[in-house]
Amino acid sequence: MCRFYIKCKNNLWYGFFNHFNSNLVTQAISTRFHGVSKAEFSSLNLALHNGDNSKDVWQNREAFCLGLGIDAKKIVTAQQVHGTNVLCVDESYLGRGAFDYEEAIENTDGLITNVPDLPLMMFFADCVPILIFDPIKKAIGICHAGWKGTVHGIAQKTVQAMGSSFNSRPEDCLIGIGPSIGPCCFEVDEPVYTQFKQAFPSLTYKQTSKEKWKINLWEANRLQLKNIGVLDKNIICSNVCTKCNSDVFFSYRADEGKTGRIAAIIQLKS
Ligand SMILES: [Zn+2]
Repeated sequence: MCRFYIKCKNNLWYGFFNHFNSNLVTQAISTRFHGVSKAEFSSLNLALHNGDNSKDVWQNREAFCLGLGIDAKKIVTAQQVHGTNVLCVDESYLGRGAFDYEEAIENTDGLITNVPDLPLMMFFADCVPILIFDPIKKAIGICHAGWKGTVHGIAQKTVQAMGSSFNSRPEDCLIGIGPSIGPCCFEVDEPVYTQFKQAFPSLTYKQTSKEKWKINLWEANRLQLKNIGVLDKNIICSNVCTKCNSDVFFSYRADEGKTGRIAAIIQLKS
């Protein structure tokens, strides 16, 4: 199904991008397998904001992080709002939102850091996870690009924030676009289509009926990154649709809104 997915130590599965140097960075995207959450959150729900039992979520987070050699107590998370705020985090943010959603960083959809052993984690159910690694300046970023974030350039803004904070050059940045709703399934009506058409006039749009269009979020994110100088060869897309594979991933659309969240996580090694 997905060539990126491997089984790790504690019987969990995770995906990773093999163009990121594993000596320098730890990164993973989770599945929904082998957690302890019940019912619609079954079973490896990693998010606290969707109504799941927080003890189960913590157990899932610990198991997932343990398999990666990451300390779950250190994870830095955000209250994602489909916006374009990007925050540069340092040691003072360690553990923000690890146990308690109220403590997650407010109103933020992109996180960046150059501090080793500081895990950045975000949550997804169809929205696009984007991981960024600058091997030259030794800096990382992560962002949550749903359709609104994609239209408003969250991926671009996260790479640009790495430029402002760490002097990262777009041409040095490696990008991983994770499992999310694919061009096969992401169908929108005219108001959303119009926003995309304005933001990405050169993208290919497939009209499926009088008032419906299918949009490729992966290509919209690739395009906006290439527009600021990220190299096409450095952008790897997992090409895995979460709605088509809702047995493996939580999918907001497949599960009609009541579902868990997979996580993407990235941490610089010390
Ligand atoms: Zn699909």
